This record gives sequence, structure tokens and C-alpha cells, in this order.
Amino acid sequence: MNLNEMYQKMGIDNDVYTYGQKIAEELKERFAAIDETAEYNQLKVLHAMQKNRVSDIHFAATSGYGYNDLGRDTMEDVYADTFHAEAGLVRPQITCGTHALAVALAANLRPGDELLAVSGKPYDTLEEVIGIRPSNGSLAEYGITYHQVDLKADSSFDLDGIRAAINEKTKMVHIQRSKGYQTRKTLSVTEIGEVIAFVKSIKPDVICMVDNCYGEFVERIEPTDVGADLCVGSLIKNPGGGLAPIGGYIVGKEAYVENCAYRLTSPGLGKEVGATLGVMQSFYQGFFLAPTVTAGALKGAIFAANVYEKLGFDVLPNGTESRHDIIQAITFGKPEGVIEFCKGIQAAAPVDSYVEPEPWAMPGYDSDVIMAAGAFVQGSSIELSADGPIKPPYAVYFQGGLTWEHAKFGILMSLQKLKNAGIAKLEA
Ligand SMILES: *Cc1c(COP(=O)(O)O)cnc(C)c1O
Repeated sequence: MNLNEMYQKMGIDNDVYTYGQKIAEELKERFAAIDETAEYNQLKVLHAMQKNRVSDIHFAATSGYGYNDLGRDTMEDVYADTFHAEAGLVRPQITCGTHALAVALAANLRPGDELLAVSGKPYDTLEEVIGIRPSNGSLAEYGITYHQVDLKADSSFDLDGIRAAINEKTKMVHIQRSKGYQTRKTLSVTEIGEVIAFVKSIKPDVICMVDNCYGEFVERIEPTDVGADLCVGSLIKNPGGGLAPIGGYIVGKEAYVENCAYRLTSPGLGKEVGATLGVMQSFYQGFFLAPTVTAGALKGAIFAANVYEKLGFDVLPNGTESRHDIIQAITFGKPEGVIEFCKGIQAAAPVDSYVEPEPWAMPGYDSDVIMAAGAFVQGSSIELSADGPIKPPYAVYFQGGLTWEHAKFGILMSLQKLKNAGIAKLEA
């Protein structure tokens, strides 16, 4: 059986296969550059692991208080070295990316301080953390005020607005690398470095925190290489490499990371407690794989952009622009497009492939939402997944794929469903 026949056996017809092969062929050079970034980042991670003398004793489970958990403490040093940061906090007790960000904020802000967001409205779940949407226990309830400066229409920083917003209360600046569910561009690490330098030129002691979710290992440098005081993310995204079953990380300046540890566990206890219950091997192995896993997801996103752009759909980022995260948005303009796309992604999954996703009313959303995920780790978005709100402009957000091969298959399956439904037309 040749490759084409294998795809046919999996439900991809000859037209979709041929179209996909043509697009993939055109992307060869770009993919080679991604492989080279993965190679660079692989060495970066390996160097940190070797420097910290990672050994099989670090994979042992601890329980109870978790005092002297060598695997945990060494993992934190490996993260710190990889990110060229002074310290790290990498824990299974950090439940998700939102939690990691909430800890970093609450740990370093005090009543009377102001948080300034300079890349516009933060990710949806942070609205309740900050108190933009009132919530029990928000920063607002503790007397921490919030101010926001939106990006300009071309997604660049509004430097005049930022200068005007910084005042004697400004203690922390929030910068979000990925666009999340917004239509702006994702920020490059270089752009993040420029805004940090600008902020520090006005107020040197402001703590600059970067929400790095979905950005890790996409470039050769990370926000901590360009002056970020804190850099935060989720282990069920890029840096977990698909293997970490839970967790989040915070890396940065020692004193600020220390505050995070005090907030996460308890004042006085900090980093000293927190048993790891046997998950450390998955943290190490996932981090080791993360550069190549991220590369696979990145190729998938670029492939999807090119597949759908050339069929006449709006894609963000577009087929040729440079990438700083692994998210791809595709606008179909009608609900059926979003639905068929998600059905294709689900049908391509290794887990729950027989399930048909349907739009549903979900808490926190003002329209029905459809989600496709057939993941080994629940909710993991470094694994192939897609979701879209059923409202104009009927866009789907797509990300992940533990391997490029799987991401490609998922996208071809989505195209097959769209073709069968008469929504996407392949020229003969
Ligand atoms: C995913 C994400 C978060 C939140 O992470 P969760 O693990 O879903 O809580 C925060 N910011 C950005 C930009 C994200 O992509």
C-alpha cells in the first residue's frame, strides 16, 4: 500500500490528498527553518539537563510535605537555565495556565498597587482574576487597581498611551505574547523586549510579566532573554511536550519567583513543600520533547493556513507571515464551516475519534461553542484540538498536534469534511 492508498483507507480521497501534498511541497523550505529552530532549542534543553546532572533519582515519587524533593528542585533549575532566568517554580500543584498567572500576579502585587496591561485585554480567564469581571477573590477585591492600554490597530504597542498610563502606583506590567481569541497579531519576543525596555526607561522598578502561553520554543529566545522579570505558562501546552499530565511554570527574577512560591504554598514555606507524587519523569521527558513537539504543531498551523488561504478563506496568521505562537484562526463565514472543520479534527484523533462534536451552550460564553479534542491529557491544547464559537464571523481556532504527521492528517480530514459538505471546493 502506498501513502496515497493509506490515506484513502483512513478516509482521505485522492483529490484532498493530492491538494495537501502540493501545499506541503511548497512549504518545504519553511519547514526546514522550523526544524533548525527545534534543533537549536533541543540543544538548549539538553544543555540545561546536562548542566544540572539530571539522573534517574530525579524521577522518584515523593509524598506528604515533599521536603527535599530533588527531582522537583532540579526540574526548576532546568527550567531556569533553559529560560536564562534566575529561578523557576515548576509544579504539578499549579493547576493550569490561568492559575500560574494568578499566582504570579497575586504574589507580587499588594493593596494600593496598580497592574498595567500594555498588550490590551488579557486572556478571557484573567478577567475574573484581575476583577475586570467582578469575581470572588479577584485582585480588585484586595484593592489592586487595573489599567489597560490597547495595542494600536496594526498590533504595535501604543507607547504614548503606555507612558501616560504609568504612574506612582504602577507595580506590574502585563504583556501577553499570544493573541488568544483576539484578532490582533501575536507579539514576537523582540517586540516584547522593546516594550519592556520602554517601560523600564520610564519606571525601572516595574515588574514586567509575560504570559508566554503557546509561545515556548517557537523562537530561539524567550521573553526572559529580553528583560522579562517573570514569564509564565502552562505545562499542558508547549513546554509539557504532551507528556506532562498537569502543571504550570513561572520563571524569572529570584525574588519575584520566591514571592510566587510563598503565594502558591504558604508564607514561610514557599518552595520547600510540594510533593510531586511521581509526575516528574513526565515533566522531564515532556520538556525534553517540547522543542520538536512545538515544531510539529507549528508546521500544522502553517499548513492549515496555506490549505485554507488558497481555498479563499480568511486565515490569521496568513500563509506567509512569521510565527510567534502555535494558534491558527480560520474564518469560514458560516456555522457549517466551523462545525465540519471540528468534526474533521475529532475524526482524526487517536482518542474518541468515533465521537461527533456538536455546538453547545458553555458557561462563560455568550454563544454556542463547538470543541474538538481527542487528547491523551484532558484539555491539552498542545495536542491536536480546535474550537469555535457559533457566531459571526464563524471562525475556528486550531492548535497543536504532537506530531506534524498527525496535525497534517487532522487538517486533511477537516478539509475532507468541508469538501463533502460542499463548503470547500478543490479545483480539479
Ligand atoms: C491558555 C492560555 C491561558 C490560560 O491557560 P489555561 O491553562 O487554559 O488556564 C492564558 N493565556 C493565554 C494566552 C493562553 O493561551
